[in-house]
Amino acid sequence: MLDLLNLPGIKPVDMYKESKALIIVAVADVAETFICPDCKIPMHKHGTRKNKFSDTPLYMEPVRLEVQRPRFRCESCGKMAMSKLSFLDDKRRATKRLVDVIRQQCFSATFRALADETGVAVNTVKNIAHDLIQELEQTVRYETPVIMGIDEVNLAGGYRCIITNLTTNNVFEMLEERTQDHLKTFFNDLPDREKVEWVCTDLWRPFKRSFAAFLPNAKLIIDKFHVVKMALEALEEERRKYQVQLSKDNLINVKRSIQWLILKRHENLTPAEHKALAIVREQIPELAIAYDLKESFFTIYDEPEKQLAQNAFEAWKNRLPHEGMEPFKKLVKMVHNHYDEIFAYWDAPFTITNAFTEGLSGLIKMSNRLGRGNSYEIIRAKTLYSVEARKVGSGFRSGREKVEYGPHIPTLLKQAESSELD
Ligand SMILES: [Zn+2]
Repeated sequence: MLDLLNLPGIKPVDMYKESKALIIVAVADVAETFICPDCKIPMHKHGTRKNKFSDTPLYMEPVRLEVQRPRFRCESCGKMAMSKLSFLDDKRRATKRLVDVIRQQCFSATFRALADETGVAVNTVKNIAHDLIQELEQTVRYETPVIMGIDEVNLAGGYRCIITNLTTNNVFEMLEERTQDHLKTFFNDLPDREKVEWVCTDLWRPFKRSFAAFLPNAKLIIDKFHVVKMALEALEEERRKYQVQLSKDNLINVKRSIQWLILKRHENLTPAEHKALAIVREQIPELAIAYDLKESFFTIYDEPEKQLAQNAFEAWKNRLPHEGMEPFKKLVKMVHNHYDEIFAYWDAPFTITNAFTEGLSGLIKMSNRLGRGNSYEIIRAKTLYSVEARKVGSGFRSGREKVEYGPHIPTLLKQAESSELD
């Protein structure tokens, strides 16, 4: 029989089909002699032993090897011996090459699909993936970001903390939850902590208290997107209050579109939307005031310098009416609570928070596509150890030591999009 197995130490002698697998019968092809390690005398042949092992699929069928090996026995002490098969995995009843195939595919295919394809149990696939993840955790190291983003993304059934490198747009780390405990552990284990110069995050207060102790050289910035989002939320609250006041005639024209109309920036309104806004001004002047407050809040970020931005915020604050507009007064409080971090935006070397927002929206899109049917552990591994995405931006420092920044977010997104088409 042609040796289609190509495994050292055994030769195929027969092949037959069982319901779910191709069985290849093989025999050990060695004329080995065994010496008893204790008695130092030759051992004698003592029957044969039949064992089954899973191997890589053949003709798109799972393969089971049925290997027959002679057993040897020491006549003096009764010790038994059998030829070792070097192609077997140490931990599983499977060939090394099958375990390799599963390792290569376990982040791109589902465990169930891999189990069906190879004929091994789903749990075996899971264990192989788990071992691989542990190995990667020990060996893969990414460069500590100089400009770090910290945010939350809803992934695999919960809000996960994602730490990004904002200079290179790579994922640096993923934590199961964004709690003080998780972050403290992360910061404690972070190599080159002193390298971090900027940290960009949202308006999450607990973080502000703890991070300074861990990152001695870092300045905290609250990103622009999360700040202006509060102005939008304030406007939304006002809209819900006043929209009911629209007259019936105008309701038809305006009501349906009023929500997104007022959320839009003034310069992006179409002529029809300008007309609708004029109706709002006429019928609900309070809502128009809220709209104008939102618009002028946004323009704070158009200021080229920190002092000018702070002045613009003061001027904006002074325009708030004494009565009403409570959601905007809440916004003022929030700005004061995070004053230094919000205005640190103007101290940053470049527009860090744009990179933060773009990276984050990429991650959110990716998580929407990755989420289904995967555990957190696997999603994290798929994200952090994606071979393709890790190639982007990696290189060698002084020609020797490999430098990696982590998986590139746009590449991760592309992968997630293409796997959705499968
Ligand atoms: Zn012996």
